[in-house]
Amino acid sequence: MAEPGAPAANSLAGRLARLGLKTDADFVLHLPLRYEDETRITALADARPGIAAQFEVEVVDSEIAYRPRRQLIARVRDASGAVALRFLNFYPSQQKVLQAGARLRVFGEINHGFLGPEIIHPRFHPVAAGEGLPEGLTPVYPTTAGLGQATLRRLIDKALARYEFSDTLPAELLQRLDLPEFGAALRFLHAPPPEISQAALESRDFPAWRRMQFDELLAQQLSLRRAYLARRARGAPPLKATARLTDALLKSLPFRLTGAQHRAWREIAADLAQPHPMQRLLQGDVGSGKTIVAALAMLHAVEAGHQAALMAPTEILAEQHYRKLAAWLAPLGVEVAWLSGSLKKKDKDAAIAKVGAGETPIAIGTHALIEDKVEFARLGLAIVDEQHRFGVRQRLALKDKGQFAHQLAMSATPIPRTLAMSYYADLDVSVLDELPPGRSPVTTKLVAEGRRDEVLKRVYDACRAGRQAYWVCPLIDESESLQLKTAEETFARLAADLPDLKVGLVHGRLKAAEKAAVMAAFVASEIQVLVATTVIEVGVDVPNASLMVIEHAERFGLAQLHQLRGRVGRGAAQSACILIYARPLGETARARLKVIYETADGFAIAREDLRLRGPGEFIGARQSGMPLLRYADLEDTVLVDQARAIAEDMLLSDPDRADAHLKRWLGGREELLKA
Ligand code: ADP
Ligand code: MG
Repeated sequence: MAEPGAPAANSLAGRLARLGLKTDADFVLHLPLRYEDETRITALADARPGIAAQFEVEVVDSEIAYRPRRQLIARVRDASGAVALRFLNFYPSQQKVLQAGARLRVFGEINHGFLGPEIIHPRFHPVAAGEGLPEGLTPVYPTTAGLGQATLRRLIDKALARYEFSDTLPAELLQRLDLPEFGAALRFLHAPPPEISQAALESRDFPAWRRMQFDELLAQQLSLRRAYLARRARGAPPLKATARLTDALLKSLPFRLTGAQHRAWREIAADLAQPHPMQRLLQGDVGSGKTIVAALAMLHAVEAGHQAALMAPTEILAEQHYRKLAAWLAPLGVEVAWLSGSLKKKDKDAAIAKVGAGETPIAIGTHALIEDKVEFARLGLAIVDEQHRFGVRQRLALKDKGQFAHQLAMSATPIPRTLAMSYYADLDVSVLDELPPGRSPVTTKLVAEGRRDEVLKRVYDACRAGRQAYWVCPLIDESESLQLKTAEETFARLAADLPDLKVGLVHGRLKAAEKAAVMAAFVASEIQVLVATTVIEVGVDVPNASLMVIEHAERFGLAQLHQLRGRVGRGAAQSACILIYARPLGETARARLKVIYETADGFAIAREDLRLRGPGEFIGARQSGMPLLRYADLEDTVLVDQARAIAEDMLLSDPDRADAHLKRWLGGREELLKA
């Protein structure tokens, strides 16, 4: 829905808004994607196929043709030859320019089409006879449908003429970092002087680009650092713990914490004792044991006289947490409330009342926890599991149930550190980089579709040996009902193929109670083969399951495959993950399967995922609301580190300069970073 006062989407202002262009600063910082050489004119007869060049031509005639589809075709010629210009999408304004007799400069590559030599969608503009040529390269800007380069360039030029180019960095610093002055760098990029080669200009290391990259990173770091300082200035109840409950829990466990778990728990405990809110991300690969760390943190809050809440993204996971925590905590006399959308109204109201009165120290649940009517008497710690599954608002909503609650987010989809830092505003990160002992690595097998019988035999053998298996149905994006149908068919087929085994089915359309019953039966080994959709993707922990079969593995994303594979290899038994794929494999699907086959380390997989998908999709940038870096690269650690150090210093030594820099680069968008 459009915001009130927002420009119509197809107006000029609307198109500019789509590009984020409003203020002069926005326009001057809208930098070229690439450059084209319009300093020369090539005769049509000299054009080489597949190489873009500029021609100066006269329009012979133009018409709109309707076959095979509506298109605008203009025949043009110069002294050496003729060519057709073909436009599949065009605007009436373009059609008007292409009148017989008009003189044009046309930029594009000539190919041999149905009608003979043609240029598809060339850039062009009318010229007067004898008009001079540009001396330097011509910038080509990122744009959006219906907004031509000429219009964009005119607006950018106007903004350049008006803009106050004062440098936000002191000369001494520029010298030290060997960076050019801001105004000069910017003019250079918008209007490169003739002596600069295209290759130099398009290199990322070109000094003028370095300057833009640095400025952008500096703005980001300033903004992160400021958010951090603001948080440090806010108060939160320092949770002074007695270790009575946490010690008791640790003693009752059948295992000892790993070194990594211990370290993360110490980091969290230290944060909780501070008089300002913790904001920490606990990252750990699937199976690294995040839940016990969360349990310790919650008990710490309880010892200090506060309440703690744990929110999980799916019913199945929330319920599993509830069962596990209740079993751990009941012997310690700590009551756990359960809140999910599927509870009977009466039970839910009762749970809400007890949480509100402060009678239950710990609450576990799904999104039901953040409903308006849920209130905590004294929430001290809010934990969000699998936090990447929640939107920013939902994550904040849980924390906001306590006046100044400490916040812990947990994720098994590890985010490369630099990315985490820039997307999750100011966040401290603890990492579980060690798996509990006694796990044998999961073997991964790629199997082409025709070999289903072999896979069935493996499932059969594993189950006869007392193990259990998951069988994940193909993902069908387009239709939920088709997905359901496939799941039911897969279930029926497997049940028929494996008559001696007990086969169960779980999918998203089951009622919560039904899902819980199926999962409970699987946990109790009453079901041996669990046919499932991706509802089991995150968090599910059944250590006796040793085999994971994924059908049409080529349709799944990397993170998903890694998560699914992480459901096995949780016990002592040798585990395997069998990826059944169908041919033909697309290029990305092949790349994904190769990565998952070769790599077990979640962090390495996340890096590859980031590379294959780009940061926007990887992190759900739209959801996080964070403007992406346009020019800088977060992996450019040298520049990132310089920017961080200078940001810290500038906030202390010259806050006005920091303000000016932030205003230039982030304008009004800084608020978004605070989430
Ligand atoms: P995740 O990090 O994926 O959420 P879980 O918290 O579900 O992992 O833990 C995976 C399994 O490992 C659970 O069965 C848990 O009880 C067990 N576990 C956790 N920590 C240890 C440990 N230090 N030693 C042995 N087993 C552990
Ligand atoms: Mg988990």
